[in-house]
Amino acid sequence: MNSSLSVYNSLKGEKQVFESIVAGHVGMYVCGPTVYSNVHLGNCRTFISFDLMYRYLKHLGYKVRYVRNITDAGHLENDADEGEDRIAKKARLESIEPMEVVQRYTVDFRNIMAQFNALPPSIEPTATGHIVEQIELIKEIMEQGYAYEVNGSVYFDVLKFNKDIPYGKLSGRNIEDLIHNTRTLDGQSDKKNPQDFALWKKAEPVHIMRWPSPWSDGFPGWHLECTAMSRKYLGTQFDIHGGGMDLKFPHHECEIAQAESIDKTPPVNYWLHANMLTLNGKKMAKSTGNNILPKEMFNGSNEVFKKAFSPMAVRFFTLQAHYRSIVDLSETALEASEKGFNRLLEALQTLENLSPSAATTDFDFKAWKEKCYEAMNDDFNSPLLIAHLFDAVKFINSVANQKQEISEKDLEDLKNLFNAFFYDVLGLKSTENDGVKDVSQLEGTLKLLLEIRDQARASKDFETSDLIRDALLELNIQINDAPEGSSFKIN
Ligand SMILES: [Zn+2]
Repeated sequence: MNSSLSVYNSLKGEKQVFESIVAGHVGMYVCGPTVYSNVHLGNCRTFISFDLMYRYLKHLGYKVRYVRNITDAGHLENDADEGEDRIAKKARLESIEPMEVVQRYTVDFRNIMAQFNALPPSIEPTATGHIVEQIELIKEIMEQGYAYEVNGSVYFDVLKFNKDIPYGKLSGRNIEDLIHNTRTLDGQSDKKNPQDFALWKKAEPVHIMRWPSPWSDGFPGWHLECTAMSRKYLGTQFDIHGGGMDLKFPHHECEIAQAESIDKTPPVNYWLHANMLTLNGKKMAKSTGNNILPKEMFNGSNEVFKKAFSPMAVRFFTLQAHYRSIVDLSETALEASEKGFNRLLEALQTLENLSPSAATTDFDFKAWKEKCYEAMNDDFNSPLLIAHLFDAVKFINSVANQKQEISEKDLEDLKNLFNAFFYDVLGLKSTENDGVKDVSQLEGTLKLLLEIRDQARASKDFETSDLIRDALLELNIQINDAPEGSSFKIN
């Protein structure tokens, strides 16, 4: 191949050739969801973007350790270390245990991501499972002199850190601007300066999520968990850190400061950020009603769109845009994507049934392959890859219509590569099973087949009864005949 992988590194503001720290291995950390409500479609886009990168790195032969955390404590309502913990608030409003909130929305998140055919990460650590590591990290930062304790809470001293190591590298904000733009403290805060951020917060008596620490019974600051968990599973320096664009500041900036305050070296080589999803031209927000849940899209139970869209149609829609550009969700755009996705699916079927027809091929397979890899190597340009796949679709259809020809070798190679890009890299799959709305539909159909078969047996029509039995067995559904009637078992 002529090209090698380049990625847009937010830290440098440019595309760079990707070189992993350890040859053949990649360590990748992506900030996961805060599990206090159903996963937002915008978040799904972010995770689909990183799923694409994970899949492509694996396709290139890298052994990837992909860590994506679950935030189940410490994420307050606003970024100024104020307000209630999001999970504790939900638990209070619904009169349930915080861990019930966490369980419910973690399950929802995994379920939705599985419907989008996103691969699970290699490790999915939780903040509450790493309280010990977070307390140790605070101690280390304090030992370096970059954190201070006030009334049982511990804060990171941004101004002091900035004197030794520049703060604001990722977001391009310098400390003077920050001082100028941050509102002054209202006297309620324990912080020395408004730029400082919490590493540990002392819990108020009503706060239910609390752990003992050397400073107080309290809970860790939100930025801390990602540093604790990425250091634990990927080391003090790793290859890729990703997340949504909105996390660049302050979350990722704070992660960098925490790690550098101890290790004195940049923790991450490539910072990758996925852009947001808008709905009908406007930012999605629960408060304005301009919002839609993934499952409401899949089953059509929403006020925004006239029809339902399958998870694969939505996944394909997001991949038709580059991960760094803003994408607007609209009925027209989704319908166009659905049509395009179906055309690709049909072409896969046509390709499967195609026979070689000549010694030479009317299509430059080698050049096409090169272009596909160049697209993906150019900062994971999935829309360009999809455009190249459509070029191949034209050729596939023209061979099927006997207007052009393909050799045996090229047919084999085209099949392999087309399948690899469609299934492995883009993570698409056939939507055949999406039509089954629930198990009762499948069960009803099977019962009907059993009834027909019983009637056939009663009238000694064994040809029909055996046909039903064998066809079901091929689908891994086993019929058991018993004196009281037949039953089925799905293997
Ligand atoms: Zn994070």
